[in-house]
This record gives sequence, structure tokens and C-alpha cells, in this order.
Amino acid sequence: MTIDSARVSENERTLLARVPKGLFIAGEWRDAAGGATFGVEDPATGDLLAHVADASAADGATALEAARAAQPTWAATPPRERSDILDRAYHAVVERIEDFALVITLEMGKPLAESRGEVRYAADFLKWFSEQAVRIRGDYRVSPDGQSRLLTLRQPVGPSLLISPWNFPLAMITRKVAPALAAGCTAVLKPAEDTPLTCQLLAEVLSDAGLPPGVLSVLPTSDPAGLVGPMLADERLRKVSFTGSTAVGQNLLIGAAQNVLRTSMELGGNSAFLVFDDADLDAAVEGALLAKLRNGGESCVAANRILVQSGVADEFAERLADRISQVKVGRGTEPGTQLGPMINREQRDRVQLLVDDAVRGGATVVTGGSAPDSDGYFYEPTVITGVSASARITHEEVFGPVAPVYTFDHENEALRAANDTRFGLVSYAYTRDIGRALRVAEGLEAGMVGVNRGLVSNAAAPFGGVKQSGLGREGGFEGIDEYLSVKYVAIDKP
Ligand code: NAP
Repeated sequence: MTIDSARVSENERTLLARVPKGLFIAGEWRDAAGGATFGVEDPATGDLLAHVADASAADGATALEAARAAQPTWAATPPRERSDILDRAYHAVVERIEDFALVITLEMGKPLAESRGEVRYAADFLKWFSEQAVRIRGDYRVSPDGQSRLLTLRQPVGPSLLISPWNFPLAMITRKVAPALAAGCTAVLKPAEDTPLTCQLLAEVLSDAGLPPGVLSVLPTSDPAGLVGPMLADERLRKVSFTGSTAVGQNLLIGAAQNVLRTSMELGGNSAFLVFDDADLDAAVEGALLAKLRNGGESCVAANRILVQSGVADEFAERLADRISQVKVGRGTEPGTQLGPMINREQRDRVQLLVDDAVRGGATVVTGGSAPDSDGYFYEPTVITGVSASARITHEEVFGPVAPVYTFDHENEALRAANDTRFGLVSYAYTRDIGRALRVAEGLEAGMVGVNRGLVSNAAAPFGGVKQSGLGREGGFEGIDEYLSVKYVAIDKP
């Protein structure tokens, strides 16, 4: 396979020129303290898209001071006003869907149709949390001895550091920024180095929507440890919310211990996708395609291990391979593209290593299995069967368009295999038997379960994992609680 991608067009250059390139601190765009910048690449071609300011520890301290200074006023701002700002930002993002989608596609690579889907999903968090800002509750209890009253109220945690990954350059950010702002927390946001441009556009939208200076700062950087390390040690910070790999999350938890920060950790996954003999096989194949290839497989909720009951395993693998081999690979801006490039060379090479390791352990490549000839970081959509339990791909997040298919005989065996991982983000089960669906949903060690659905993400649902997939929840009623502390007030019986 050879892929010859179009280079950056005039239209794309015009849009990129309009994206702010500075650091956003205290309501203004400015250069980094040391004047440094770093480049952002088009993963479909390796072309340079833009340079953005490169924040250092000094910029982190300035942004944190702005967040500290703005915190009391923002916390005291009427919830309805905070809600209105988020609502205006929601409408602005939806109105500018084409700009946001194109910037996402340019810097992250996914097809434009998927980028539009991400923009809608991301905007939903602004809408949802604009609605939650005015619903922060407390309560009034009578002590068991009847002698006092126990009042509880929820107050903003305080200045929060938000760190996001590159795979959903907008949605992983609004999922944090919207509840933080709704709760009355000020925030400093560090986007991923590969995809800072989408975040710059969002900062512009929030500022135009009326967000007061200092409430949100945005600091792209090429030195995440150098920026974040000192911030975690700074007593002005009260919370860190992170989405990314388990390895980085573990380090941040150690750093957060210094100041006993509130933490939210949305980490890696190793999702099992179970297909039972009694499943609707058409639906299961379509669900697996979605759970595997959405976002090019570069998703924490991607189906990492597809486990199929022996009665339907051969037919399922054949049908999945047939569908996957027809997927059109190309630059995300090209009409008809269904799978874009991977984010960078390192991720692409890592996927190849995992496939090669599985093949060395006895697996068969049914379709795909290599990187096409191109200037970008493409990888062929791939199905492999006969993967051993000890292969690296069985235990590590593949984060690419590779579907390993395994076989099982009994329900208990499937559950044991599904749970045999240090991760616990999401799992999926396809069956027509409601009893089995509930048994399996209860037995899976995961924060989320998709029953006869290959997609669980929804702004109104609590997203998050168990085990080494993380701490806390984003979205739903739970998402705002991550940015609120409960205060209890004791008062004598009136
Ligand atoms: P990553 O390498 O852990 O990076 C995530 C973020 O952390 C980026 O902004 C990164 O900056 C920053 N970072 C890296 N090293 C750091 C350090 N030492 N100190 C502070 N910040 C640091 O993850 P990724 O490759 O971007 O994303 C893929 C991972 O995210 C996968 O494991 C996926 O499962 C997980 N993920 C989880 C969820 C969820 O909701 N559970 C959602 C999406 C993704 P740079 O960009 O500069 O490296």
C-alpha cells in the first residue's frame, strides 16, 4: 500500500494563521518568558503546520499566580453567570465546528467526519456543565441524638492544573475545563505537545464568551516535566486532573503527594470486547469496528482484545477482517477517508513492534500488519488471530488500528481473561441473553461496560476507570464533584 497525501493547502494555511500562537495568561496572549517556540506537525505528511510559544517553569508560576489571584472572585461569581459563559462558549464552538474540526484533523490526523463528531462531543461538555453549575447542592441533616444540625455545602477546590492528551485534542479538554469552571475553580491548562492548536482556539472562544482574566491560562510546552514538576510543588495549586498514560499518571500522583493535591486520573485501558455465541453477529462486527477503529484505534476505550466464543469465532474474524480491509486510509482532509495517520512516528513504530511480537509468538496476520509507504505515520488496519496470552499486545494498550482476536469456550473463561489485566477502563459484551448481559456487566472489572454497544462516551455519563485505569470520574453528575470539596458545618439545634 502506498499513500500519497496532499500537502498543506492555502485554505488550511489561512485557518492556521488565525489560530493564536502565544501563551494565554491573565486574559492576554503573550510570548513565553524565554521567547522559545516549538513546531507542530501534520502527521499525514510530516509537514510543519505552525510554531507555538513554549512555556517554561517561569510561565507556569505566572499562570498559577493569575489563577490564585482570580480564584476568590471566580468562586464568588454567581453560578448563573458561570453557567452563561459556558453556554456562550458552547454555542461558539458549535458555530465554529468547521474551524475546530479542520484544526483537529490537521494536527491529530483523524478524518474530518470524526473530527466533527469530536467537536460535537466536546461541546456537549460545555453545555452539560453549564447546566450543572447551577445545581451544586448541599444538605441539612439532623444529628442522631437530635441535638445539632449538620449542614453540608460544596465549595470549589481551588486552582487546578489540567493536563490533556493528543488523541481527542478538544473533548479531553472540555471534559476538564467545563466542570472546573462550572464549580468555580480557576485553571491552568497544559495541552499535549502534538496537538496544542485546537486548545488555543478553545481559549480564544472562552475568552470571547466573557471568561474573566486569570480564570483560565493555557500553556503549551515541549517540556512537560519541567513545567509541571514545579507547579505540583507549589502550594498555590490545589488540584491536578490528568488524562494520559498510566506511567505518567503514576509519576504525577507521586508529585501530587507533596502538597496532598486532589487528583483525578483518566489513564490507560486494555478493553476486552466479548462476543458470545448468541450475539447478533452483524451488530457485533459493526460494534467491534467502531470500538476498534474510532479515532484510528488511538482511544483509551478502544477494543484492545476481542474475545469471541468458539462457535462463532471463525466467522466473526473473517467478517471483521473483510470489513477492516475495505477501510479507506488517507489524509483526514481527503473525502472518503475512514482512517487517518497515527499521531507520530514513535507511536506507529510501537504498533509495529507489538504486531511483530504477536506474530513471533504464533499469531496469524489475517489482514494488514504493516506500515504503508508514505511520508506520514500511517498504519494498515489490521486483524490478527491466534494471539497468545503472553504476547505483549494482550497486556499492553496497542493504541492503533490493530484488532487481536482471541477465542474462548465458556462465559467464566471469558470473564477471567477479560479481567486478567492491570487496567479496568471499559469492556464490551455482545449477547442476546439479558441474564448473561447483567452477569457479565457485574463481573467485569471495569469502570464502564458497553452492552451490545461499541461506544459508551456521553457527556451525561460518568466516565472513568478502576484498577490502574484511574481515579475519579469525568462527565455526568459526578464530573463536577471532582472540583468541589464538601464542607460540614455543625450548629446547635435551633
Ligand atoms: P501521555 O504521554 O501520558 O501524555 C499525556 C499528557 O501528559 C500530555 O499532555 C503530555 O505532554 C503530558 N506529560 C507527559 N509527560 C509528562 C510529565 N513527566 N509530567 C507532566 N506531564 C507530562 O499520554 P498520551 O500519549 O498523550 O495519550 C495516550 C494515553 O492517554 C493512553 O494511555 C490513553 O489510554 C490515555 N487516555 C486515557 C483517557 C481516559 O479517559 N482514561 C482518555 C484519553 C487518553 P506531551 O504531549 O508534551 O508529552
